[in-house]
Amino acid sequence: MSLIVKKFGGSSVANTERIFNVAQIIVDDYKKGNEVITVVSAQGDTTDDLIEKAKEINGGSISKREMDMLLTAGEQISIALLAMAIEKLGCPVISLLGWQAGFNTDSNHGIARIKNINTERIKAELAKKNIIIVAGFQGINKYDDLTTLGRGGSDTSAVAIAAAMHANRCQIYTDVDGVYTADPRKVKNAKKLNEITYDEMLELATLGAQVLNNRSVEMAKKYSVELEVLSSLERKDGTIVRENTKMEKMLIRGVTSDKNVDTISVIGLKDLPGVAFKLFNKLAQYKVNVDMIIQSVGRDGTKDISFTVSHDQADAAVESIESLKSIFQYSNIKKDENVAKVSVVGAGMESHPGVAAKMFEALFDADVNIRMITSSEIKISVLIDKSQTDKAVAAVHEAFLG
Ligand code: ADP
Ligand code: ASP
Ligand code: MG
Repeated sequence: MSLIVKKFGGSSVANTERIFNVAQIIVDDYKKGNEVITVVSAQGDTTDDLIEKAKEINGGSISKREMDMLLTAGEQISIALLAMAIEKLGCPVISLLGWQAGFNTDSNHGIARIKNINTERIKAELAKKNIIIVAGFQGINKYDDLTTLGRGGSDTSAVAIAAAMHANRCQIYTDVDGVYTADPRKVKNAKKLNEITYDEMLELATLGAQVLNNRSVEMAKKYSVELEVLSSLERKDGTIVRENTKMEKMLIRGVTSDKNVDTISVIGLKDLPGVAFKLFNKLAQYKVNVDMIIQSVGRDGTKDISFTVSHDQADAAVESIESLKSIFQYSNIKKDENVAKVSVVGAGMESHPGVAAKMFEALFDADVNIRMITSSEIKISVLIDKSQTDKAVAAVHEAFLG
C-alpha cells in the first residue's frame, strides 16, 4: 500500500466530464489498495473571474482579507463536485477545506506562507478508508481568517501535504503531459523532458514557466519530495522533478519568458556615492522586489538607474521613488510596461563558456534588441520588447535545443 498525493489544476476539473475523468483516475489508484489524498484548484478560469468581479465592486483598493474570502470559494466548489463524482463511482470520500485539512499559514493575505499542517484530521479520515479531497491554494491564519497562497498555489498545497504525510508519490496533473524545453503551446518543436533537477525547475518556474509554481518546487527540494508532472487527459509517464537526474547534463534545459514585468527608469540622478543605496533601500521599505538593474555611466555629474519589477509592484516602486524627490532631485521617472524577460536555464552552462554569446547571436539573427541582461550560474535572462517575446523564445530555443 502506498500513500499517493495527487493535484489537479483548474483545466483538469473545468467541467463535468473532466471532473468524472479525474474521479476515475483517483478511484483507480484507490482500488489498487492505495491511500489517496487529492488537492484540487478552482475550475477553469474561476479564480480570474472572481478577481474581475471584485474589481467591479471596488477597482483599485480591495482589502486583501476580503479578496481571500472570495477566492477561497473557487476551490470550495471544485472539491465538493469532485467528491460527489467519486461518491457516484461508489467509493468513500470526504472533501476538506484548507483549514479542515490543517493548513496553518502566516497572515500575508494573498501570498501567505504555510507554517505547518496539522495532519490529525487527514490521518483520521485515511484511517476510515476515505479518499480525501483537499481545497488547494488556501489556509487559515492565527486569527482564524482565511488566507490564500498566491496564484498557482495549489501546487504548493500538494507538495506540503506530501511532505507532511511522507507520501510515496506526489503527482501534479495538468493539461500538458510534462515539463518541456519551452512552453509547448508556444514553441512547436519544444521537447518533453523525462527528468529535471529541482534547481533547474525552480529557475524555469521563477522565470515564467507556470507549469509548476516556484514555491512548490522550493518546498519539494527542501523536503526531498519527488514530483511527477503528468497529463490528466492522457495516461502516460510525465516528467520527474528530483535532486539529481540520470540524464546527461544538457547545456540548456529550457527557455522561458515572463511578460509580467515593467521597467522603471530614474533619469538624471546625482552621480554621488550612496544614491543607489538610498534608492534600493527605499524600494525595500515599500516591499518592492527588484530583479534586473542597470546604471548608466555618469556624465556631467548625473546618471540614470533602471530596474525591473513585477507589473503589480510597478506603482509601488514609482511611489517609493517619488517619496525621495526632495533628497534626490532626479529629473524624471519613466515606467515602461512594453517589456518581457526571456531566459535560458541549464545546470550545464556553469562549466561552459559561450552560452551568453550564443543566446545573443540568436537574438541578433532574429532582429531582437536587448535592453538589460542578468545571469547566474544556471541562467541568463535578457529584457526585450514585449511584442517580440514569442519570436525571441523561438529563436533562442532553436539555437540551443532545435
Ligand atoms: P494547472 O491549471 O494545471 O495548474 P497551469 O496553466 O498552471 O496548469 O500550467 C500548465 C501550463 O503551463 C501549460 O498549459 C503550458 O502552456 C504552460 N507551460 C509554460 N511553460 C511550460 C513548460 N516549460 N513545460 C510545460 N508547460 C509549460
Ligand atoms: N485557483 C488558484 C489560481 O488560479 C490556485 C491554483 O490554480 O493553483 O491561481
Ligand atoms: Mg498551475
